[in-house]
Amino acid sequence: MVTIIDIRVSPEQAFNHNELIDVVRGALFVSEDSTVNLRVLKRSIDARKRNVVYQLRVEVFVDEEIPSSEFKVPLVKKINSGNSAVVVGAGPAGLFAALELIKNNIQPIVLERGKAVRERRRDLAAINQKHIVNPESNYCFGEGGAGTFSDGKLYTRSNKRGDVNEVLETLVRFGASAEILIDAHPHIGTNKLPKIIEAIREYIISCGGEVLFNSKLTDILIENNEVKGVIINGSQTLSTSNLILATGHSARDIFELLHKKGIAIEAKPFALGIRIEHPQSLIDSVQYHCEERSEFLPAASYSMVHQTGIKPVYSFCMCPGGIIAPCATEQNQVVTNGWSPSKRNNPYANSGIVVALERSDFNLKQFGELAGMEYQKLVEEKAFVYGGKTQAAPAQRMVDFIQNKVSSELPITSYQPGITSVDLREVLPSVVWKSLQIGLAEFGKKMKGYLTNDAVLHAVESRTSSPVRIPRDKETLEHTEIKGLYPCAEGAGYAGGIMSAAIDGQKCAEKIAQKFN
Ligand SMILES: Cc1cc2nc3c(=O)[nH]c(=O)nc-3n(C[C@H](O)[C@H](O)[C@H](O)COP(=O)(O)OP(=O)(O)OC[C@H]3O[C@@H](n4cnc5c(N)ncnc54)[C@H](O)[C@@H]3O)c2cc1C
Repeated sequence: MVTIIDIRVSPEQAFNHNELIDVVRGALFVSEDSTVNLRVLKRSIDARKRNVVYQLRVEVFVDEEIPSSEFKVPLVKKINSGNSAVVVGAGPAGLFAALELIKNNIQPIVLERGKAVRERRRDLAAINQKHIVNPESNYCFGEGGAGTFSDGKLYTRSNKRGDVNEVLETLVRFGASAEILIDAHPHIGTNKLPKIIEAIREYIISCGGEVLFNSKLTDILIENNEVKGVIINGSQTLSTSNLILATGHSARDIFELLHKKGIAIEAKPFALGIRIEHPQSLIDSVQYHCEERSEFLPAASYSMVHQTGIKPVYSFCMCPGGIIAPCATEQNQVVTNGWSPSKRNNPYANSGIVVALERSDFNLKQFGELAGMEYQKLVEEKAFVYGGKTQAAPAQRMVDFIQNKVSSELPITSYQPGITSVDLREVLPSVVWKSLQIGLAEFGKKMKGYLTNDAVLHAVESRTSSPVRIPRDKETLEHTEIKGLYPCAEGAGYAGGIMSAAIDGQKCAEKIAQKFN
């Protein structure tokens, strides 16, 4: 007999195979004479009540062996069609677009302005230790894009399970733990992502694709509103009539290039705020209603939103057991974000707390459709100045911020370049700090213990999503004016996060495949 059941078990039981079998036997009234084999299909935590439980969906095999699971999508050996397409950007979108092209027997030529994963690490160390930002190789640019040294949370609002499962399965195929297929909130971790990215690159090359590093797209050749090719690093020409533009939300030069060439772009709403850091033990005790977290529970996370009456405030990209990272792409900016290792075992819990901004907040009169980007840039540059003109971040303790007091001293936080005590009202636009003060106070009411001077605000969390949308046709996914140009994923305003970027990359590649067919 094979059946699927939902069970609720204690954290200890959830990770003890024999105990799980006992629970299943009891639930299905299976006698001791029969053998029970099981595999967990889905796993989530329910921490709403005092006793925290795991909710499991389990496939049970009574007197039967568990069939071996196979990847649904077969691997390709060699591309042999003679068809090719250019993919700009080797982030999640670009890499998954390349894989989809390969599946359709089309050669991907991936252009990446940054370096390969391993070399990229040195540039990250230079930011953290020497405050030097390489504008081509940093936390946002380089192989794997912003997704490589990220938290690797694999959440998405996409409700198309097929798409989501294919991306997760692909990540497992290239080295991610199979646990991501069952966890309700899957997570890979910064320590594991680089190897997965390298394995994807090796596969692309082994099939006949190309991945070119230190290759920045500097111009797009267009004739009669059709893509004809690209210019790389200002001098090298590459002909193509199919161009996937997956350059991410930080490629400001791409937005400027399109604007300069008169190719339609639109200023788009995005969110901006700070990254807050609490002791992880505090978040654990609030969320799990305990003094100390059980070893069978992961570092706790949270997600909150409040309509302040000024602008909505919400938590963004929470990293339990994580580290705050310096994510500027130019020397004169300070930008924060967060990551965590697969074990999420750092003593800190960080999260973006951001304010939703709209087009009407930007100076469209002066900057046109680049107004959102200019707004973002201005705040990041201010953070740089107030931080001390290094990669140190302007910071303030949480209660001090709400009470308009400059913090007399600051604790050591996970943000490696260091922090500088300032009045964050001087760094952030008034609509942002006013909304944050209300929102954070409200979060303190929702989560008892959250509002504390042990928490530190780091400015500025500004790269939450793209400040620009590149319009595209809903059917063909080509730019509304330029044939053969596929604005893709986060930078073009069609994705937010690793999963949705990967899915959008696949979709753009599918459209190119349909054209060839
Ligand atoms: C520290 C950090 C933590 C994060 N944590 C998470 C998380 O846990 N979960 C999650 O879902 N998301 C997370 N994100 C966001 C996530 O990484 C992005 O949403 C995702 O990477 C977007 O994918 P993308 O392919 O659209 O763009 P990107 O990943 O930004 O990739 C774009 C690529 O294009 C390249 N490029 C840019 N311009 C050019 C050019 N002119 N020529 C050639 N190449 C170019 C860049 O170098 C880059 O490699 C995190 C981001 C950061 C920075």
